[in-house]
Amino acid sequence: MSFFDNLKDIYRKVSEVESAIYHNKQDYLEVYERNIQLEKEIEERTKELNLANKRMLTLQHIWDMMNASRPLQSVLETIVNNIQGELGYLHCNIIKKCEDEKGTYLTVLAQSNDDSIKRVDKLIKGPIQARKLIYSKDSVYAKAEEVRQILLTTDIGETLKSVIPEVPDETIEEVVEGSPSKSIITVPLFTRNTHFGWFNVFSSRKELTEGETDFLTIFAQQIEMAITIADLFEEVKSQAVSDSLTGLYNRRYFEEYLKKEVRRALRQKQPFSIIGLDLDHLKEINDKYGHAYGDLAIKTVANVLKKNARSIDTAARMGGEEFNVILPGVESEGAMVAAERMRKALEEEKLDTIGNITASIGVATFLEHSDNIEDILELTDQAMYQSKRNGRNQVTLAKPISETSWQEIAINTFTDILSRHNIPINPEISEELKSKLKNTQNEIPKEVLYSVADILTQTYNPLHHKGAIKSKVLLAVSLAKRFDLPKDDIDNLRIAMLLYDIGNLMLPQEILQKTTPLTEEERSHIKEHPIIAAREILQPISYIQDIIPIIEHHHENWDGSGYPSKMSKDEIPMTSQIILIVDAYFALTEPRAYRAELTPKQALEVIKQDAGKKWNNALVQEFISLIDHDI
Ligand code: GH3
Ligand code: MG
Repeated sequence: MSFFDNLKDIYRKVSEVESAIYHNKQDYLEVYERNIQLEKEIEERTKELNLANKRMLTLQHIWDMMNASRPLQSVLETIVNNIQGELGYLHCNIIKKCEDEKGTYLTVLAQSNDDSIKRVDKLIKGPIQARKLIYSKDSVYAKAEEVRQILLTTDIGETLKSVIPEVPDETIEEVVEGSPSKSIITVPLFTRNTHFGWFNVFSSRKELTEGETDFLTIFAQQIEMAITIADLFEEVKSQAVSDSLTGLYNRRYFEEYLKKEVRRALRQKQPFSIIGLDLDHLKEINDKYGHAYGDLAIKTVANVLKKNARSIDTAARMGGEEFNVILPGVESEGAMVAAERMRKALEEEKLDTIGNITASIGVATFLEHSDNIEDILELTDQAMYQSKRNGRNQVTLAKPISETSWQEIAINTFTDILSRHNIPINPEISEELKSKLKNTQNEIPKEVLYSVADILTQTYNPLHHKGAIKSKVLLAVSLAKRFDLPKDDIDNLRIAMLLYDIGNLMLPQEILQKTTPLTEEERSHIKEHPIIAAREILQPISYIQDIIPIIEHHHENWDGSGYPSKMSKDEIPMTSQIILIVDAYFALTEPRAYRAELTPKQALEVIKQDAGKKWNNALVQEFISLIDHDI
């Protein structure tokens, strides 16, 4: 090969190499560019995937929460906070459509806890969540509801104005201007095919991005599902008859069953008893060992009740630490035995960590203590509290009360007194009164009692007005009620009001009728004697022993200057103080042999002067306000 041929060949090869290099470079550049493009694509895809992943995770979270049967409010709050925080919205809320007697209104059921809402709340001076919002037919909400579709509005100011028209326009403008929100996206919520409200997000974009409609719709469906599940749960709960912690019947079932039992008892004229039980010191158990041990104590009570009740008895957990057992066909005697058995069985249980627990129990019997079921439940409760007061871990039987019980006691007391031979009373009057007291069937017993007391009072005080006793009793009872005295005390007070001056029957007529001032000796006689006499007359009557001290001390003064025991302040029974003030008021407004009657106003002035001396200030105040009311 010639030199030139060789040279040509070399050139060719060089140019081949050159061209190869050139082409490779081109290729390389292409690859490089493709790579950059791919990287970009990968970045985009990763972003999308991340977003999708976040949406998936948020959905997953919502789903887990719904399965954890948390209260709806807390589920919805977590949903809105998740959506706002994870998906980059400025704010997210759920609005509910509500109805009341004035019509339709809206409330924010849940809202994300973010800076934008804090700003709004501050500007409108109070949380928007606490407001009743206006439902306007022109709002984006009403439109979204009507078309049943996701809607976007960029008119944030108008939308806010439609729900809070009472807020000044300048404030709304301030809200809108300072906010990065550019649109509100609203999705109407429907649960079980009825409109519930709206799910809203506040976005920094003016339009929906690709896919946004789809995933917001999916979130809205999750919210709808959470609400539906909560609704169904409530429905199921309201139909439930048993208590989930103990497996006993719940209050709802107890009340239903009790109604049936009352009807059956009345029809068959057969009693039934109720045992009411309250765990002792549960609060202490909770505080000392924790709620789980408190629950253990409650479950233990339930198990003891289940074990110790007969198959026809119904044990229910009324709520908290309160239980009731109905014992059909059982009288109080049998119920007391059953209750005692339950108390003992509970006391003997040995619990993990806590050791022993006890309960206080009350028992009452329908048709025995009362034939009114509300009274029976009240009596069971009162008896249970009596057990608590007496030191817990014991059973108390209800005391029978009936509307007429104090009247029966009073009727029996008067009959007893009138039947005594040592009472200086005209036998004719005595017989007349006794027969009045016997025939109370056709008369109102209270009225008979007032009239008997009036007639007896007139035998030693001819100036006594007929009807005054009734007025005194009514006034005393009103006063006692103002001091929240228990029913038993009030009943005792009524009887005491009828009897407190009965000792005057034993006073010598000369002293009672005297028109000239009394001597010192006479005065002390008249002071002490009625009390002594009342004691003598009343002491033998066994069933009024609670009433005797009330009468005995109705002349004690607040400052200790009274008689017979010189008691002072709270030593004096409240009921005795009430008798003293009522008696004084009536004495002052009645004429006396030695002075004319005072007007109510004058009498009150006299009573006021002795405030803090004869009677306590609070009593005088209440008394004046009571009388002032009438004059
Ligand atoms: P007492 O002997 O006077 O009845 O005292 P107590 O502490 O049992 O009564 P109190 O009424 O002061 O407190 C009752 C407590 O029972 C308060 C409440 O938190 C608790 N409690 C109510 N229901 C439950 C429950 O289901 N589980 C637990 N662990 N505690 C409960
Ligand atoms: Mg308790």
